Amino acid sequence: MPYPVVHVLFFLFCVGAAAIFAITKALSRKELNLKNSTELLLIAYIGSMCTLFPDLPAVYNLFTNGTLDHISVGSIPTHSILFSVTAVLFGTAIEYALYRKVNKALYMGVFAESAFLTHLLLDDIVEGGCPYLYPLYNGNISVFSIMDTGFADAGSLSHYLAISIATVFCVFIVIMMALFALNKFGFEFNYKVKK
Ligand SMILES: [Zn+2]
Repeated sequence: MPYPVVHVLFFLFCVGAAAIFAITKALSRKELNLKNSTELLLIAYIGSMCTLFPDLPAVYNLFTNGTLDHISVGSIPTHSILFSVTAVLFGTAIEYALYRKVNKALYMGVFAESAFLTHLLLDDIVEGGCPYLYPLYNGNISVFSIMDTGFADAGSLSHYLAISIATVFCVFIVIMMALFALNKFGFEFNYKVKK
């Protein structure tokens, strides 16, 4: 499994690449002040923590059993969309406790969810699948292995295109969730038409 630092770096610098770019530009224009930086640090903290949530049982097991077993909490696999509720609650609760604004808290929940899901995607790449859909489907699913479906395996052009679009969309939606939430926290992603 990728180590925690890899998960955090993957989320912040790959999924959040557009935000890093925006921050760099703001720094170069000297537009960042202490208040803005504090909010940015909170966003980075919640994202970093939530991207580690699927491996939380590993920390518990390390201290109690001396193992790095990080598969489940009770019967619930932590590498599932169901368990991502914990990250959403974490992000939403912290944001609401600090700013008392329901909208911002909900946007932070979306951001936390995207951070959690990037952990699953990275584990999927490395380990070949996660039980994303528990309890609807208990087995591992690998978005990236399905991407590798060939023309012949798909059976028809329409089936091949459907598989390709669906699998890429899984990654796309996670990145868009992060960008959507960041946009609500002051990041602007604009296209300027050249005249
Ligand atoms: Zn993991």
